[in-house]
Amino acid sequence: MAGFRSVEPQHIDGDIEKVLLTEDDIQSRLAEMAVEIERDYAGKDVLLVGVLKGAIMVMADLSRHLSRHVEIDWMDISSYGSGTRSSGVVRIIKDLDTDITGRHVLVVEDIIDTGLTLSWLVSNLRSRGPASVEICTMLRKPEAAKTAVDVRYVGFDIPSSFVVGYGLDFAEKYRNLRVVATLAPHMYS
Ligand code: 5GP
Ligand code: MG
Ligand code: MG
Repeated sequence: MAGFRSVEPQHIDGDIEKVLLTEDDIQSRLAEMAVEIERDYAGKDVLLVGVLKGAIMVMADLSRHLSRHVEIDWMDISSYGSGTRSSGVVRIIKDLDTDITGRHVLVVEDIIDTGLTLSWLVSNLRSRGPASVEICTMLRKPEAAKTAVDVRYVGFDIPSSFVVGYGLDFAEKYRNLRVVATLAPHMYS
């Protein structure tokens, strides 16, 4: 297999403060998580539910690390909040196409910060009568530990600073970065 591209794309030159996770870090961890998921769901059908738009990269890569059948569906939800903080007040922009009654649902998330969005999502999904609902997230911030939501698979625990890349945006940009990074302070002003 060819090595991962290590050169940063030109369009982000100077925007990044620090790369927290390289492509290699991310892909190695996803491979480990895939092994756990395969073990835990042996003999069961799994529906991966991704939360748009942040989870697109995790979904694409994690699902391809799995050497078993899965189904994939998406929800788009918007959480009202001021700026970068979420409030837990959530609106469904796009619902699942799949009836999850009796299904084993694994929610695939990009990042859990306060956990308010996720906690709403989990109770919404549970109300539809699935066989199980578990959560897999690539990133988790310290504050997430305070919420009651039990997260089964966590890629990386990271500090509470705002990060971009690997699906995560700042004003809709940087989602296509192959790494997870913090933005240089001048980018915010
Ligand atoms: P929570 O409800 O857990 O506070 O917020 C989760 C959502 O907030 C994530 O799905 C993501 O859209 C956004 N978010 C939280 N922390 C960050 C961050 O560090 N960077 C980016 N780009 N988005 C974040
Ligand atoms: Mg998300
Ligand atoms: Mg965002």
